[in-house]
Amino acid sequence: AAKKQGGNQVIIYNEEINKVNKEKLVIEARLRKAIEQGGIDVYYQPKINARENVITGVEALLRWTDKELGFVSPEVFISVAEETGLIHSLWEFAMNQACSQVREWNTNRLHPLHLAVNFSAKQFLDPASMVQRVKNILSDCQLAPEYFEIEITESTLLYNLEETIEALREMQEYGVTISIDDFGTGYSSLTYLKTLPIDCLKIDRSFIQDITEDYHQSEIAETIINLARSLKLKVIAEGVEEEYQKEFLMKNECDHMQGYLFSKPLCKTDLETYLRQNDLT
Ligand code: C2E
Ligand code: MG
Ligand code: MG
Ligand code: MG
Repeated sequence: AAKKQGGNQVIIYNEEINKVNKEKLVIEARLRKAIEQGGIDVYYQPKINARENVITGVEALLRWTDKELGFVSPEVFISVAEETGLIHSLWEFAMNQACSQVREWNTNRLHPLHLAVNFSAKQFLDPASMVQRVKNILSDCQLAPEYFEIEITESTLLYNLEETIEALREMQEYGVTISIDDFGTGYSSLTYLKTLPIDCLKIDRSFIQDITEDYHQSEIAETIINLARSLKLKVIAEGVEEEYQKEFLMKNECDHMQGYLFSKPLCKTDLETYLRQNDLT
């Protein structure tokens, strides 16, 4: 019976794989079309300096609702885009759109907004040409590098480590801020952390959600804040949803925060409304 069961499991497993592959092919085809026809949107989630009560910047996050597939989560279509190479045109679109948008917002602002864009590990397969493309887009869109931030995850550092470090260093020297997204979920060694050209740690949402009302299980968030401080890095918390999480983070001197407590990612028009209503600068 055990043997038979095993056999069945193999069949089920194969069917699952076929189903997943089929879905990926459909997503790829629809995504390609969406990129060509302008069906992808950039949303913006505010980053807040809670102590000073100001909006310091926004993170660009892609949104896609397909006519046939409905809403497709970025986690899903980004991974398909990475596997198929579509990530490059997707990135090109996001960069141009977000950089020129933020540059436009900044013309009327006393304190210009910073723009953070997520970079996929796959984009660092050719780090040198990536640096050139970033510089070109920033200069085309007239967004000063000081207002531009790259979010990478620890997985970016898995390939081409030396070339990646060199590319990051070049961008840092150019004025761009480098942040490690979802920090604490990967396996970056502390040795790397000390030598890498990075400016900021972004504490993963899961550790912020661990912070309960009685501050139980807040050790990891606290540890990352202290780590950042001793390495002289900036630190930001993502996924802040509750007032008591904000208070805990402020008490531990994590000034920068992002999360539903302040705002969800918003389309251009809604972000403009949000800025008008919440902006103290
Ligand atoms: P991420 O860069 O870590 O983005 C944070 C995610 O957390 C976003 O999900 C955001 O909507 C969500 N979030 C923000 N605040 C809260 C909160 O308070 N509570 C909860 N539960 N969630 C919150 P989203 O937009 O679905 O994006 C998922 C991931 O997809 C991103 O994770 C990023 O890795 C990737 N992604 C999105 N846009 C791009 C892009 O343009 N390029 C690349 N390479 N990746 C992207
Ligand atoms: Mg991010
Ligand atoms: Mg993140
Ligand atoms: Mg994430």
